[in-house]
Formats: sequence, C-alpha cells, structure tokens
Amino acid sequence: MSDYVLVLDEGTTSTRAMLFAADGVLVASAQEPLTQHYPQSGWVEHDPREIWDKTLRCALAVMPKAGGAASIACIGITNQRETVVAWDRQTGEPLTNAIVWQDRRTEPFCAELRAAGHEAGVQERTGLLLDPYFSGTKMRWMLDNVPEVRGAAERGVLAFGTVESWLTFKLTGGAAHVTDASNASRTLLMGLEDAQFDEGLCDLIGVPRAALPGVVDMAGPLAMTATELFGRAIPITGLVGDQQAATIGQACLAPGQTKATYGTGAFVLTCQGNRIPRSKNRLLGTVLTQIDGARTYAIEGSVFVAGSLVQWLRDSLGVVEVASQTEELARSIPDSGGVVIVPALSGLGAPHWQAEARGVIAGLSFATGKAQLARAALEAMAHQTHDLGAAYAADGAPWQTLRIDGGMAANDWMAQDLADMLGVPVERPGFVETTALGAAMLAAAGSGIYPDLSTACQAMRGRLARFEPQMEAEVRDARLAAWKKALAAA
Ligand code: ADP
Repeated sequence: MSDYVLVLDEGTTSTRAMLFAADGVLVASAQEPLTQHYPQSGWVEHDPREIWDKTLRCALAVMPKAGGAASIACIGITNQRETVVAWDRQTGEPLTNAIVWQDRRTEPFCAELRAAGHEAGVQERTGLLLDPYFSGTKMRWMLDNVPEVRGAAERGVLAFGTVESWLTFKLTGGAAHVTDASNASRTLLMGLEDAQFDEGLCDLIGVPRAALPGVVDMAGPLAMTATELFGRAIPITGLVGDQQAATIGQACLAPGQTKATYGTGAFVLTCQGNRIPRSKNRLLGTVLTQIDGARTYAIEGSVFVAGSLVQWLRDSLGVVEVASQTEELARSIPDSGGVVIVPALSGLGAPHWQAEARGVIAGLSFATGKAQLARAALEAMAHQTHDLGAAYAADGAPWQTLRIDGGMAANDWMAQDLADMLGVPVERPGFVETTALGAAMLAAAGSGIYPDLSTACQAMRGRLARFEPQMEAEVRDARLAAWKKALAAA
C-alpha cells in the first residue's frame, strides 16, 4: 500500500528525510549535517548545491525502508524559514551562496527604511518588522552586491526563493517555481490580507516581481517530482515553514491554541484562526495555514536564548557536563538562593526587542554554586516565556494551555516550572519531532490520506504528558519581582 509520507526537513544545521506511516509513527530517517559558512562577522551562508545534494541523498537513503518509491504516497517539505536562494531558472544552478535567516548584513538597509518612516506601514501590510531576519532585504542585497544575480535579473532568468522553493524547483526538474504562503509571509514582500507578493512592497524593498515564485497553498496537489529522480513521479502535497509546521504538529489549529519550541532559541506561535493579527506589542503576524485558498494566521514571538544558555553553562562555565544534568541540579535545592539570570547573551527578542541588551547574573553570594546557576538558568525560561505571554494577553490572545516541544522540553523540571509560572497547564507530546510531524500531517491531508488537516492531526498526533500549575501565588510573585529587577539591569 502506498501510504507512507516522506518528509524532507531542511533545517539550519542539518538536512533530514523522515518516513512516516499514516498513523504518524516514524518508520525511518536519514540525516546529514549542513556546512555553515561565516564569511564575515554577522554573516551566515549555506551552499544551495549542498542543500539539494544532501536532501536528495537522504530521501534516497530512507525510501528502501518503505519498500521503495512505489510505497510513498506523497512528500511534505519543511524548512528553515527566511533563508534566500538565488538561481538561474534556465540552467537550474545557484548564482551565489544562500543568505541564512540569522544573517545580519542588511541591518543598515533596514535602518534606512526605518528612518524613512516605513516600519508602521510595512507592519500593517506584512505583520513583520523591518529587521534583517526577513528574506526581502537579503534578496535586495544580492541584487546590489552579486554581479551574477544582477546579470540574471537583467536577462530575465533570475529566480529567487526560500529553501522549500529551491527544493521544489529541483525536485520537479525545474518545472515549478513556487513558494507556500507560510514561507512567503516571512519575506516582507507579501501582504497578509491576500497572501500575494505586493507590487508596492517589492518596489520599496527593491526586488523585481518577475524573479519571485508563485504563492501556493500549503497542502494539496502542489507539484510532481521529476520521474528520473525516484523512478516514478511522486506528488508533493505539503510545503510549510518550520515554525508553522511545529504549530500544526502540535495540533494548534483553533484560536488561542499555542505551542512553544525550546531549542537553541524559543519560538512561540498562537493560532488566531482567520483573523489577521495586528500586534501592538511588537509580536509578529504570520500565515499559519493556507488550504484551498483559505487562510489561518498566527501571532509569533521569539526569544533568542533558550537551550543555548544551557549550552553556555556547559561549554563556557563547565557547570554541567551534559544539558540534562540541569534537571537533577535544579531538583537538588529548594530555590535558586536568590540567583536570577537574564539570558540576554545576544540581545533580547520579543517582546523587549533590545538588540544591545546583554546578560545579567544577579543575586550572587558565597552560597551560590553550580546548582543555583543551573536552576536559575532553567527558571529564566519560564521568566522569558511569562513576559511573552503577557504581550500575547495584551494583544488579546491569552494562553489557556502551552504545548511545548524542542530539545529542552525533555526537561521535566522546566516543564513543571513553566506551568507554575504561567499558571496554565503545559502539555508535551511523546514524539517531540513536531516540525517533521506537522509537515507529514499537511502532506497527508494534501494527498487525500485524510479528508482534512484537523483529521490528519487527530490521527497522527501521539500521546501527551501534562503538567498542572501547583506553585503558590506568593512564590511566583516574588520570582517575577526579582526577574523584573534583573531585567531592568540588562
Ligand atoms: P535546535 O533545533 O535549535 O538545534 P534542539 O531542539 O535540538 O535545538 O535543542 C537543543 C538545545 O536544548 C540545546 O541548546 C541544549 O542545551 C538544550 N537541551 C537539551 N536537552 C536538555 C535538557 N534535558 N535540559 C535542558 N536543556 C536541554
């Protein structure tokens, strides 16, 4: 029976192919690391050829475990968002390295646009802020600085795309130049209202419309792979940016439902249903799903430092040998002994947006040891999430439950502390690869394995662990007061 779903998960540090059965169980996976290029401080690049070669290799490696290409019903692609690839649509070859989402090189151009008073208008149209994070200014930089890109634009053969767009182009043998609405909503070039690239925004950022892909649904018969790749044409029926994929993988499809992914950083998305988010608290508005032309939206907020704080305790301070040790250390003491960490090691993200802020460790005493530092680091996750939650509530989107995932979510102590400090139940799925699972759910719905996305979510979502709030209000209030004081110092 051909009802396996092949997910291609193209992340920032690795490329994976994962094979899911129709009930959401992971059957096989293959993974290859991706080379990171840092040509200058603040610049991050990937080689698009390497992305494609490794994606194809991983796909070919897992297929036999399903019994070959004949058993694959459909393909779903999920990707690192905002990363830009430029290629020649005639030769199919990249014109330069991809500029990765983390890259800060377009900050001067963003500052120029902000100084000219464009931010409010852009936020109104796109839900985004004028920040180098988003794709549009990266495209403009390539046009201004890479002669091959400028030349291809002049000859009418330039193709821009985010990573799912590049992979779809290659998988279809150059037949499709498309992007899905979730990835398109991260470019600064797409209006949230109609999910089309907007002439006015393209002119403002300086990106020719002709070089951009067509915006398509996130599930459905989107494209077919070239026959020669896998010996048979396989339908691509799901395309989705990684954070939206994780939100779908956590079945957050009704207004108010919220997921938080705790990896290197923390990404929170709250479903808004068909209402376009208009944040007054510097949160982002983004497309969550688009199927049969109908859209749902999400409010997004990100914290820059989450698991990377634990990594820093491990690698720079030697407080722990492995990240999971933070849990036993936190449990070994009744409180942090007054130690508060503000993890602004690379500035503060939402809702503070203070790029120049730096970290603080407050409340040190001779009683401070490794356990207090480890506990304060984990507590900082709840503190940061609490501030984000307050911004969501102020935007009219309070959380009822928080569904968590990501490498750090494995920490039971942190999960309980989140429930305690947020005052809402926290749920964690048994299968934490929610990004890949979300792409599998979309592809399964798009291929007709399930009649719609919510049925796919119900059928493919695994068991949950639940953490109920237990902390006394005085303890919580005291912690928040100490956090606020330390935050002011940062
Ligand atoms: P990413 O996808 O961003 O690379 P992951 O989701 O793999 O990150 O999460 C890894 C991060 O989570 C690391 O920064 C690590 O320090 C942290 N981490 C992993 N396990 C634990 C744990 N049990 N307790 C605390 N932190 C953890």
